[in-house]
Amino acid sequence: MTKPQLLTETEYLESTSNVERKKYLQKIKILENLYFQGAQTNTEICDRYNISSPTSIRLLNQLIEEAWVKKDGVGKSAGGRKPDLYGLREKSFYIIGIQLVKFKIKMAIFDNHNNKIAEFEDLPFEIEAELSIADHLYEQTNALLEKSGIDIEKLLGIGISMPGLVSSKEGKNFTYFLNEEEPESLEEVLKRKLGKPVFILNDAKSACLAESNFGLAKHKKNVLVISMDWGIGLGILIEGKMHQGSSGFAGEFGHNPLIDDGILCYCGKRGCLETVASGMALARMAKEGIKAGESSILSKFSEKDVEKLQPQTIIDAANKGDQFAINILSQVGINLGKGIAILIQLFNPELIILEGKFAEAKQFITTPIQQSINTYCMAQLREKTTISLSNLGGDSVLLGSVAMVMKNIFKNQILKANNI
Ligand SMILES: [Zn+2]
Repeated sequence: MTKPQLLTETEYLESTSNVERKKYLQKIKILENLYFQGAQTNTEICDRYNISSPTSIRLLNQLIEEAWVKKDGVGKSAGGRKPDLYGLREKSFYIIGIQLVKFKIKMAIFDNHNNKIAEFEDLPFEIEAELSIADHLYEQTNALLEKSGIDIEKLLGIGISMPGLVSSKEGKNFTYFLNEEEPESLEEVLKRKLGKPVFILNDAKSACLAESNFGLAKHKKNVLVISMDWGIGLGILIEGKMHQGSSGFAGEFGHNPLIDDGILCYCGKRGCLETVASGMALARMAKEGIKAGESSILSKFSEKDVEKLQPQTIIDAANKGDQFAINILSQVGINLGKGIAILIQLFNPELIILEGKFAEAKQFITTPIQQSINTYCMAQLREKTTISLSNLGGDSVLLGSVAMVMKNIFKNQILKANNI
């Protein structure tokens, strides 16, 4: 019998003994732990899974033999010899993360240590103009795989994050790509074409998954992750678990009508928070200001370029000291802060992480947010909440897509091994 391919194969489980299946299950759990927690000592693994030290060592040695695991330095000692650390071996497996943004697609291949192996950063795309995206993503995924030169056998799956009302359970987006004649979901089409597992998730929830597994929310329990790009999104971590809601749509924070007699939002309602606190709002405010003759480094743009102004350009101008850009960012921050004050009162979080393009505006966005929170929040709640900028370097959503793939793969393998 050939060696079972952990993480991809399940036929092996059906034909093997209960003892072997139990071993397989324990090995999957060890790999899951090493993937999400990094290198561990034998004692840490024993404690976590309540297995004896000789059993754990035996399993680790098998994983070393099968080239999944390697000895990875030494851990801290409580006295005596320092214990060996066990970590995942480099290039054991790969995952593709894809992020659909309003006007572009980002995609990257990550290895099992979250190193980026190959990427496409700015594939042109217009989310509102597309009815179906499957063929395009299929072609680009193949192009990226070719560019990377990785062994396709080691690709475990693809995670796609996108804006809109996304149901991970149904594999569908209920806001975009509404091609009613298509009987299969985006997830099903890509899975069939690529022959690999595919999972989709809302982009703000992806960012939340990334923060809770690899970022500032790791080991924290009650955290809100606010994504700010063209729109605003919210990921909610309650008692260490991401809150999805009954249909998977929880966190539509931007579409609360908080502004009396506000302007029309693209969702069809008036006065949504997003109309005054988002990248779209920032671009609109910049356009209006420039047309009204505000003096700014943005004023030198032609009329055509002003129409296409991106939040990034305005944030860059603020970082160069442009007073007008700083002022409109400040207004957006004050508006967003009012919304965040409501969230603090509702959720009492220990930490709020701001991620997305706006994180690059640093103090120009956090200071006005903090000012609003100081004004609108009850002191006892406010004092317990820290506001931080993501430290995942603009890759939160891609890394969240990767985390989603790995969570699902481990979960499915464990379920299968348990249910035979
Ligand atoms: Zn709206």
